[in-house]
Amino acid sequence: MDFFCKRLLAWYEENKRDLPWRESDNPYLIWISEIILQQTQVKQGYGYYLRFIERFPDLLSLSEATEEEVMKYWQGLGYYSRARNLHAAARSMQGVFPTTYQEVRALKGVGEYTAAAICSFAYGMPYAVVDGNVYRVLARYLGIDTPIDTTAGKKLFAALADEMLDKKRPALYNQSIMDFGALQCTPSKPECHTCPLSDSCVALAKGCVDQWPVKQHKVKSVNRYFNYIYVRMGAYTVLKKRTEADIWRNLFEFPLIESPTHLSEEGFLRSGELADLLIPGEEVAIRPVWLNVKHVLSHRVIYANFYEVVLSENSAAFSGYLKIKQEELEQYAVSRLVHLFIEKYVDGTPKKHLKIKDR
Ligand code: SF4
Repeated sequence: MDFFCKRLLAWYEENKRDLPWRESDNPYLIWISEIILQQTQVKQGYGYYLRFIERFPDLLSLSEATEEEVMKYWQGLGYYSRARNLHAAARSMQGVFPTTYQEVRALKGVGEYTAAAICSFAYGMPYAVVDGNVYRVLARYLGIDTPIDTTAGKKLFAALADEMLDKKRPALYNQSIMDFGALQCTPSKPECHTCPLSDSCVALAKGCVDQWPVKQHKVKSVNRYFNYIYVRMGAYTVLKKRTEADIWRNLFEFPLIESPTHLSEEGFLRSGELADLLIPGEEVAIRPVWLNVKHVLSHRVIYANFYEVVLSENSAAFSGYLKIKQEELEQYAVSRLVHLFIEKYVDGTPKKHLKIKDR
């Protein structure tokens, strides 16, 4: 595999991405960058990383922060369990970052890939990373059609990645193969014509580049129907924290009525859930503000409607909710969907039928 390593490292020398966390062997900074990049593109994660480490430059500052503040810095990145785990893990470390693979792997939110990345980048330990890029490069270059999402596939690719690893330069090798997968051997339209490995790539020789890596299971997407209520009580509005084991846990949102299917405006106005939130006989003005919003998450599509409900400032409606001043809204960590609503409608101009996409 010397040939593979040699060409890969030479390619990296010419093409490597200039990323701030690569300039450091500080395990804390590498950990933060790897958690951010777990389900986020480098382009999107870059700014978040810089803002995050500016506010939380070390383990101590992160462990002393409140979870709310950490979530606020994570807002918009999606997969919020990463932020909760990061915070919990920081607190569990008691100021000292672990130095063995087993201890790093035992941190909350750290899987095999992240542990290998931290240990190789920070400590030069010979652990091979296996992420989507590595699966793709190895499957194509070696011509492996075992599905990567099966137990047998995972075992096989872990063994192959370990075999291919340059044990003397694990950090350099890991960074090289990840960048190679991200920039050259990309999921669609890989640059085979300029690839330094093209003369020995099995997938290219067999014409299977776009079929590999093979996946057995396709993840099914679930539709959900959210009807949000933006309450205005004079200078106040209300929020609630999502606490259940579901998407956006620990983020705040407006009162929500989730329906099993699409709820029409009429259906919303007549719903028992809405009546339960209001005070019978009290004067109320209700209007639709943002309808038919399609918000795409990784395994779910949220179809959302937003309604504005105007009540008097001292109304007792929405009693179980957190009553805050409108101008305090920006202090609360919210999902990207709610954030977009606030940006567009709380002070802005209404637009209808927008389609937004994030994780
Ligand atoms: S030839 Fe194409 S498929 Fe093969 S490793 Fe290079 S970029 Fe990937």
